[in-house]
Parts: sequence; structure tokens; C-alpha cells
Amino acid sequence: MSAPSRSSAESPEAFEPLRFDPAPLALTIDFEEWFCICGDEHYSDPRNWDRFEETMERSADELLERLAAAGVRATFFVLGWIARRYPSLVRRAAAEGHEIAFHGMTHRRCDEMTPDELRRDLREGKALLEDLAGAAVAGFRAPEWSVRSPEDAVFPALAECGYRYDASLTSIPILGRPGNPPRAFVAPTPAGRIAEFPPLTGRGWGQTVNFGGGWAFRRLPWRRDQGRFRKSRLSPPPPMQRRARAVRPHRPHRQPLLPAKPARRASPQTARRRLRPRAPSQTQTRRQARCRARARMQKHM
Ligand SMILES: [Zn+2]
Repeated sequence: MSAPSRSSAESPEAFEPLRFDPAPLALTIDFEEWFCICGDEHYSDPRNWDRFEETMERSADELLERLAAAGVRATFFVLGWIARRYPSLVRRAAAEGHEIAFHGMTHRRCDEMTPDELRRDLREGKALLEDLAGAAVAGFRAPEWSVRSPEDAVFPALAECGYRYDASLTSIPILGRPGNPPRAFVAPTPAGRIAEFPPLTGRGWGQTVNFGGGWAFRRLPWRRDQGRFRKSRLSPPPPMQRRARAVRPHRPHRQPLLPAKPARRASPQTARRRLRPRAPSQTQTRRQARCRARARMQKHM
């Protein structure tokens, strides 16, 4: 890749786009517990985490089995706290061919840390995960979309600490900044270059929606997602690599007090539904049988 034509970080055009033809489809998973969240006095405090029911072991086991059965490899953004508690799960994910990346030590927002704290967190997590995975850790995803723009101080910190890419930015309002590049790009920093992989976004309900992860990915019909992925991969200009953030082996963020509903929504069954081709429904089977019968009749007429 050539150097960016402009070094200014004031507009999306200032960043060198990363081009793929066609774009690969990337599945990524935040490897964390349902109570590892930000912005909540009770749940956000890691000193309280020992008190909550843990679901990681059984749900991760099921998730890994389903990924293996579907022949799909993913990127796991692992929380340092989880890696310390379940080192064998990280070793297993790495051994089964999944990429291990970092998601913060205790799910603290990057913008709530001092520069020194952030660098300590990044270095500690990288060393911990590399030791468990036996491979270099290149990627980072900030907890709760806490990297807001390509000018964020997290980018040079990532380069200084030996990371090569980030997957935290989005261009949708509230979670990110509408001016952020909607597709993969390279951000130059004084310490080196960092590639950024935003999730797939698109227009829906009169606004820009995150179709590659979060609420829309969890809730919208898979057929609709497929259409969007296909369109994004094939439409010019050569599109970005996407990430799918929705398949989590635990209850989704912000829903820890609703055990029944979130458990149904975010369980590995969701992963299975999305990763495996669906068997034809009874209606489809009956329709196919009718078509075959009609063809047979016409043949004999
Ligand atoms: Zn998270």
C-alpha cells in the first residue's frame, strides 16, 4: 500500500482506504461475560464480578463446537479478565484456528483511562493473550465503542504497543461519528500505521444503522443480512472487510436483568442459525413436491 496522500485527519478522505476484491466476510466475537459492561455502577465494577453467575464455560464450549461443525473460523476479541479466568478456553480457541485479539483487561472505556493506563492495559493484554495463544496478537476492539474517531489517541497507543489493527470505530451517530470512514482504511500515526475495520453500515428506518453488528444484526432476518452482505461485497467501489459483532456467547450488553429473553437472543443457537444453511421449511418441501407432481403429469399428458 502506498502512503496516504494527505496526512490530515480531518476528513474520511484523509485516510487510505483498504481495498479487497471481493471483500472477505469476517465473523468476530467479543469474548466476555454478560456482566462485563460499561456505564453501570453495579456491573461495571470488576470487584463485583465474582458475585454473578458465570456462563462463559458452557456457552463458549457450545459456540466453539458449532463453529467447528460449520467449518467457520472467527476472531475472538478476548477480555483480559476472561483470559485469566478461563485460560484453557483461549488456548482451545487458538488451537482450533481462531484468531485471538484483545478487548481490554476489565472492559473499561478507553476514554476513561489516562494515556499511561491505556498503554499499560494494551501491553498487559497483548502479553497475556500471546502467552496463551502462542501467536502474535494484532487486533484490538475497544469496549463499548469508546474509540470515537480516527484522530483518537488510541490509534498511536495501539501502534506503540505493537498492534496492527483496530475494530472499534463506526460511522453511525451516538456510537460513533457520522464523519468516520464507513469502510476499512489505514490510519497513519507517529508510531506506525493502524488498519481500521468498521462494521457494515447502511440506511434503514431513515437513518444510518449498524448492519454488521449489534442490535440490527441480532434482530433482523438473516435473509436481509445476506442481501446486504452480498450487495456490499460486490458493489463498487471495492468494499471493506466487515465484521459481525452480534454472536456473543452470553447475554447482550445492557440486558443483564432480563435472564430469559437475552439468553434466548444471544445464545449460540443464534450462531448456528446464522452459520448453517437452513433446511427447507415444510411449506417449501410441499411446494417442491407439488411442482414435481405437476411436471410428472405434464410429461404423461
Ligand atoms: Zn464488550
